[in-house]
Amino acid sequence: MSIGKAKLTEKNVTLAHGAGGEIMQRLIGEIIVKNISNNKAGSVGLLDLDDGATISIGDSEIVFTTDSYVIKPLFFPGGNIGKVAAAGTINDLAVMGARPIALSSSIIVEEGFSLDDLVKIIKSMDETAKEVGAAIITGDTKVMEKGALDGLVINTAGIGIANQMTRDSGLNVGDKIIVTGTIGDHGTSLLSFREGFSFETGLESDSAPLWNTIKAALDVGGITAMKDPTRGGLAAALNEMASKSGAGISVKEEQIPLKEAVKAASEMLGIDPLEVANEGKAIIGVRPETAGAVLDAVRGTTYGKDAQIIGEVIGEHEGKVILETALGGKRYIETPIGDPVPRVC
Ligand code: MG
Repeated sequence: MSIGKAKLTEKNVTLAHGAGGEIMQRLIGEIIVKNISNNKAGSVGLLDLDDGATISIGDSEIVFTTDSYVIKPLFFPGGNIGKVAAAGTINDLAVMGARPIALSSSIIVEEGFSLDDLVKIIKSMDETAKEVGAAIITGDTKVMEKGALDGLVINTAGIGIANQMTRDSGLNVGDKIIVTGTIGDHGTSLLSFREGFSFETGLESDSAPLWNTIKAALDVGGITAMKDPTRGGLAAALNEMASKSGAGISVKEEQIPLKEAVKAASEMLGIDPLEVANEGKAIIGVRPETAGAVLDAVRGTTYGKDAQIIGEVIGEHEGKVILETALGGKRYIETPIGDPVPRVC
């Protein structure tokens, strides 16, 4: 991937360092990963920068992942921080091909926080995990003094078991690219809500745990790569998959499922729906022979009804993503420099 392409010039952390784009990739590469020397416990380690890593135990490997959630506001149309915290970690396991087994819940809360709201958040985590058969089995709770924290942050780690380990780097020329549903819903709806016109758009976050959808795809077979397009959106995720796989990806604009309300809100907000976070979608690379059957299987699941084949892996434009526009033009889809919508996950 593009880590190390340019040097960090700042002396202090900026918001762009957390935005999911190239600047964040440089922070992770030059400041975090470079200073952790013991970074592998199985076939996938820290340097792979995949959605999770693996631990070898005897002949099998378990998948391990962790994420922190700093969403503002904590409650929004379609969910709350607890739902996203459980779903996001479950989805990172799922796109590695792993059945989510257990999660941790580590919560840091600000003095004065409503206990009723805390109950709602915890119950959402519980319901979301239960939906895919995962248990929340360990946790930690800390309280910080008023003003030291913006309400509440959650960290969830997750462990899963993969029978068919899937990486984000396994694309081959000829593979079809499936997205499991409409793109841009989470980032666009959250920003609309913050800006005070969510009532007009009617948009909701797509936050959802995807294991059942992904299992349906895996059961058909022929899956070569998967990733969840969270921070940086479809644009960042496709570029990462192309770059790590050493192949090009060609995508047809008219095949990308986009809600009319997302298109309208994006134009109004001046953001690109391909660059904002999704919290209930996966990108699936699949061999052409089984692509149709995988698409049907995904569409048969609760969160996969709007799935589409949006493009394919090509032998040129290595590491790049080409968009064929509705008018027949072609342009690169670039990794966004920073997130146009901060604090959405
Ligand atoms: Mg991920």
